[in-house]
Parts: sequence; structure tokens; C-alpha cells
Amino acid sequence: ESSVTGKLSISKKCAVERLVAVCAVEPATTGSPRKRRRPGLGWNPMERFWRTHLAVTQVCAQTWCELQVAYGFEIPHVLTGQQESPEMKAGADIHLSRGKRQRLSRELEVQRVVSVPALTREDRQAVSFLNLLSMIPALQAGLRVRELPVFGLLEGVFLMGVIDELCYSERGELVLSELKTRRLHTLPAPAQVKGHSLQVRLYKLLFDSLVRGDLQREHVMSHLHLRPERALGPGVLEHAGKLSLQVSTFGELLDLLILNLTYCELPAVDRLSLEYCHQGTGAPISSQDVPFAEGQLREELRDYLAYWTGHREPRGVDIEEVWKCSSCCYQQHCEWKPGESTATGTTSAYKVTTP
Ligand code: SF4
Repeated sequence: ESSVTGKLSISKKCAVERLVAVCAVEPATTGSPRKRRRPGLGWNPMERFWRTHLAVTQVCAQTWCELQVAYGFEIPHVLTGQQESPEMKAGADIHLSRGKRQRLSRELEVQRVVSVPALTREDRQAVSFLNLLSMIPALQAGLRVRELPVFGLLEGVFLMGVIDELCYSERGELVLSELKTRRLHTLPAPAQVKGHSLQVRLYKLLFDSLVRGDLQREHVMSHLHLRPERALGPGVLEHAGKLSLQVSTFGELLDLLILNLTYCELPAVDRLSLEYCHQGTGAPISSQDVPFAEGQLREELRDYLAYWTGHREPRGVDIEEVWKCSSCCYQQHCEWKPGESTATGTTSAYKVTTP
């Protein structure tokens, strides 16, 4: 059901559907294919690594070791070519799939997951918009939603993420939760919690700015390099139709999303929570509230983004955290010298010795 303004409503009986874009072959375009420019001198990491946006999890990975994130882009073959025994690989696969299965079964408790063929980059982004559009009325109706997409421009960089869960507490607070599965029945070390805490705080910042109506058409177009006039594929149109949205192009869907966000009157997130549970049994280990201070968070974010925008070199671990290097796959290539910085801010020679 939708009004002429494009506002959506949902019946409590109607389960929310989360759409998952699956790649379909893009039809051949007329004209010559677009060529990528070769990275030039003075290009910042966003440009060098062809990033139109950053995932929230990429920024959070910087809390562990920023240089490790940089090496992941600069010498990706190191990670992919790591010598892993079949037993190690099988173990990692089991843990990964258990974590994924746990998240999926949690999601299926509250919503259905439906695959949608996506023909173009605009289709893939449109699927994310449709998910947000279908979850707005669910939240307005007081329902719990999972895997809610958030995105927006923060401190000059376009960030994207997916909130694990949003629901209302008994006291009527809007609570944002992030589930983290653990192999052992123990809490993570503070160095890991730092990244988890940044993740939920950034999700709140993005969600709050979306429901405040801060998302602008030109931010999406210019940062994600998408074409507003591009026609949406049949799979996307079918699901837009189910939400009673009368759209044919990507730009029209974006306009409708902005309109809905402007008038949705959803509250800002009141509480942030990290939930740790055991990967094997699913038993809860602990739940921790995360404090939020916007000024401090923005300051932290500006510092992390300064690397991506080329305002400083990437940093390795602090001297107290040099223990992280022993399990790092880049240790043979790493030249970071903890505790020392040069006048130019570049890393100086540091060879982590390998056994
Ligand atoms: Fe970071 Fe240490 Fe790995 Fe270097 S060896 S990338 S400093 S964790």
C-alpha cells in the first residue's frame, strides 16, 4: 500500500522480504567500452584502488592494523596465495559457514530472503534501496528488522554498511545490535572490541543521518558513479511493483527513497549493543552496551579517512600491540617500525623476523 507521496505502509501480518542481488549478465552496451585511467603519481588510495566508497567494515579493520588493510590492496596475492593446509582450510570453511548460517537463521526468524537478478550496477544498488524502503514501514510498525542497509556521505567519503538488527526495547528505545560469533566461549580481546565498537557507532551515525533526511541525490550519483537515467532490470521492477512503487529508472527510485526518508519520522538509534555468542552452540556469551559521542566519533573517523584521502601514510601497529604481527600474513613484506615515525610521516625500515 502506498500513498501518492510514495510513503509506504506495512501490515503486521506481512513478513518483510530482504532482497539479495544476484549477478546476471549485463547486456552488451553500444559504443566503445569505458577505459580505466592508469593510476598516476599523487593519486590517493581511494583513487589508486578504484574505490568509489568504503565499507564500514573496511574502516573498522583499520583499528587492528591500518598497514595490513593497505597491504590487502597493494599486494593482494599474499593473502590469496597463503600456504594453507587442507585441514586448516576445512576448519576455516566450517567456522565461516557456521557464522554465516547462524546469521541467516537469525534473519529468517523475522524476514524472508529473496534473490533478485541484477543486470547492472544500478540494479545492485536499487536492491539495497528496496530493502531500506521495505524496512522503513516495518520499523514504523514497531517490528524488528535485520540486515538493514545504511549508507551516506560522512566526512567527505561515501560509506556503506548493513546493520545486523534494529528493534525496540520494552522501554520503547530503538536498539541497534551487532551479533559477533566466537569460536571459543570467551569474550574478545579489547583490540577486537575496538573495531566492533567503531562498527556499531558508525552504523548509528549513518542510520541517524538517513532518517534525518541528510541523503542527497548528488552524493549517491557523484560518489558511486551511477547513472540516474539507467532503466531498472525486470527483477528489480517486479519487486518495486510489490512495494507499489511506480518507477522505471534508477534515479526515480532514488528520489522516492529520499522522499520516504525525509518524511519517515523514524527516531534516531537510542542504544548500541554488541552481542557475542558461541559459534558452535549459538549460546550467548555476553552482551555489551557501547557508549556513543558523535563529536569524538567524527574525530576518529576523520583520522581513519585521512589515510584514504591521501592526507597521511598508513600506520602499522603500536609498540604495545606488536603481538598482532606474529599472525599477520604480510609480516615478511612489512617495513613498519613501531614507535618510530619519520619527518615525512612515512614508515621506516622494519622487518618482522619470521621463524
Ligand atoms: Fe601490521 Fe604488523 Fe602486519 Fe605489519 S606485520 S601489516 S605492522 S600487523
